[in-house]
Amino acid sequence: MRAWTAPDVPALPRAGRPAPVLVHDSTTRTLVEAAPGPTARLYACGITPYDATHLGHANTYLAFDLLQRAWRDAGKTVLYTSNVTDVDDPLLERAAATGVDWRELALEQTELFRADMTALRMLPPATWTGAVEAIPEVVAAVTAMLDAGAAYRLDGDVYADLAADDAFGTVSGFSREEMLALFGERGGDPDRPGKRHPLDPALWRGEQPGDPSWDGGVLGPGRPGWHIECAVIARDGLGLPFDVQGGGADLLFPHHEMSSSHDRFLGGAPRAHVHAGLLSYQGHKMSKSRGNLVFVSRLLGSGVDPMTIRLALLAHHYREEWEWEDDALRAAQRRLDTWVKAVTSTHDDGEPAGEVLDEVRAAMADDLDTPRALAAVDRWAANPGGDADVVVAAVDALLGVEV
Ligand code: ZN
Repeated sequence: MRAWTAPDVPALPRAGRPAPVLVHDSTTRTLVEAAPGPTARLYACGITPYDATHLGHANTYLAFDLLQRAWRDAGKTVLYTSNVTDVDDPLLERAAATGVDWRELALEQTELFRADMTALRMLPPATWTGAVEAIPEVVAAVTAMLDAGAAYRLDGDVYADLAADDAFGTVSGFSREEMLALFGERGGDPDRPGKRHPLDPALWRGEQPGDPSWDGGVLGPGRPGWHIECAVIARDGLGLPFDVQGGGADLLFPHHEMSSSHDRFLGGAPRAHVHAGLLSYQGHKMSKSRGNLVFVSRLLGSGVDPMTIRLALLAHHYREEWEWEDDALRAAQRRLDTWVKAVTSTHDDGEPAGEVLDEVRAAMADDLDTPRALAAVDRWAANPGGDADVVVAAVDALLGVEV
């Protein structure tokens, strides 16, 4: 797929570059240098294109945008791959419920996502692949798993045989009971008769009347499962193993546990798993099923500055679970106004600009600590001195905020 246009990222002085960039790994539950080499490889799970783009999406993609910015500032080359799950049960169900062709719904929502990501100045993936585009590669991978005894057939479908993977369960560290409960809640089918183990995930769904399907070769006609889709797209965009598998916190299990299991078969599991906290609104987690979503496009359509939305999200650490309040935008707008004013009102006895750069760099290299980074800029903006261009470039390059 064609991704969106990349925003400019100004180069910052080499002196004082942060090293290393640390992030929280959900598996070890510690801060790790996830990308120790000169090239940092990131996969962030993309949207299923309906109900795009709500603030929960924006918050998640912001976290991985910030990680790329920190890596780039540390002198790394960044390879970023993402996907669009443009055929899957929830998309087909929504299309059927609203009487829209599933392809039209996917195209329209993908276009909306692209426009929202552009407005929010998110760095685009170098490889952005739709599930439908990846079907030939998924068919080849599932066929190889069957041939190797790592998968089995069940009434036209194909399932991964998790018993073939000794390391299954190590990504989340959850107990069997926790896994079974979450698998059922989050799209899995633990109760399907005939499966070798209740947690085994579908790799290939055989053709169903009324649903789209594609040529699966020896698998028969059907469509890909979600976890193998991401594993294959990540492998083809980044190579395996790669550094960081990212997504919202609800993807840890089953999605990332399963896709890492498939990655191990295909060439190696990701080194670290990084998850963004989920947002609430009106007292509950934002969710498609509940419908308590705040859409980026609606905010933009009502005249909200996209930098204000970005700043409202940056005010919280990416791992925090927090509740969106409508006055968050007012606070962010005040902050933006203060920064804009400060840039043109520096004075000789103000705070030195170079210290802001150092502090923002240090905060971002420490698990993307945006509240600390914003506080450093706020302190400077209250008494601005030195070369304001240094602060403007730091805020742009590291936080993606154009002042
Ligand atoms: Zn994924």
